[in-house]
Amino acid sequence: MNVLIPEEAIRERVSEIAAAVNADFHGRTFTVVGILTGSLVFLADLVRRLEHRHQIGLLEASSYRGTATTPGTLVLNTGLLPEVRGRHILLLDDILDTGATLSQVTAHLVELGAASVKTCVLLRKIGRQTVPFEPDYVGFAIPDKFVVGYGLDFNDDYRHLPFIGVLPDDTSV
Ligand code: 5GP
Ligand code: MG
Repeated sequence: MNVLIPEEAIRERVSEIAAAVNADFHGRTFTVVGILTGSLVFLADLVRRLEHRHQIGLLEASSYRGTATTPGTLVLNTGLLPEVRGRHILLLDDILDTGATLSQVTAHLVELGAASVKTCVLLRKIGRQTVPFEPDYVGFAIPDKFVVGYGLDFNDDYRHLPFIGVLPDDTSV
């Protein structure tokens, strides 16, 4: 496993993001919404550094690709989401790749009546975005490589790694 972002660098950056959120959300209660499952570790670390009162909610977003020619359709499961109507939302995801997930989930939260939606990703892949979308907070810009760890998986494995890593070509390692 090649370490791309070591544990200590993640810890420092999460603290910086938390400081920015604390400044921006000063005096407002809000709801942190994590997109399952990849954002779980990031969410757990971030919320413990937030100073203002907030709720935590989760939702599931999965993309399905029907045929090679149809773009992926995002299927949202909002069964674990608390009431968002009238709430200020801080939406978290692990990584911004094409931008499809965050833009569609944001639009859905607005449809549900959220008062505002700010978005935050730990990672943003360079040169991959196809859907125009600007997250409000970005941890690290990374090269176009498949990364795992700190919540991100490969075949539902490696989520527990405390760092962000790149799998060697032989993924059985
Ligand atoms: P987007 O909708 O922006 O294309 O993709 C976002 C989702 O794709 C992320 O929430 C994540 O689940 C998945 N994804 C994109 N790139 C990677 C990657 O390098 N590693 C892993 N584990 N997941 C990724
Ligand atoms: Mg995801």
